[in-house]
Amino acid sequence: MSQAHDELRDLVRTIPDFPNPGIQFRDVTTLLLDPAGLRGTIDALVASVDGPVDLIAAIDARGFAVGGAMATAMGAGLMLIRKDGKLPGATIAEDYALEYGTDRLAVHVDACAPGARVLLVDDLIATGGTAMAAARLVERAGGRLVGARFVINLPDLGGSAKLREAGIEVRSLLEFE
Ligand code: AMP
Repeated sequence: MSQAHDELRDLVRTIPDFPNPGIQFRDVTTLLLDPAGLRGTIDALVASVDGPVDLIAAIDARGFAVGGAMATAMGAGLMLIRKDGKLPGATIAEDYALEYGTDRLAVHVDACAPGARVLLVDDLIATGGTAMAAARLVERAGGRLVGARFVINLPDLGGSAKLREAGIEVRSLLEFE
């Protein structure tokens, strides 16, 4: 791996037993705090995208930071996929299982023009439950998912493989156990 890759990886802080015992929380806030780390992360994610993207669909909440910066750099719009109960307009929602609990994501019904090319973005993929729910929302909203990007992949938890099995093109910058 390159020096740049190792420098980005070293900026991710690991917090043991958060939010539950046994979870190794891979904390990207320390990566985002570092100007060169933030720039390097966004540049690398943007460079990993082939082909046109109309909208970045960013997942609440750390996905907003990464996805918003990517959308600006790529000249794309930004679709916010939020935790349920936060959006003011009419929404569609999907339930999903987390590595540590269950939750529900929602998006405005009119968040996406029919057939818009949408790239899904979050800080991290673990079991893939969150990303699969977000992918279903993008498709129910009328978008065409062209891929998914994550800063961090936890491949042992199987989420990236699950997305690929569903036909979604997946790339991530950093891997952790
Ligand atoms: P999953 O649905 O299992 O793929 O979980 C992904 C979502 O939960 C992302 O939005 C992450 O921010 C968060 N998450 C899950 N596991 C971790 C972890 N070990 N460290 C940091 N964030 C995590």
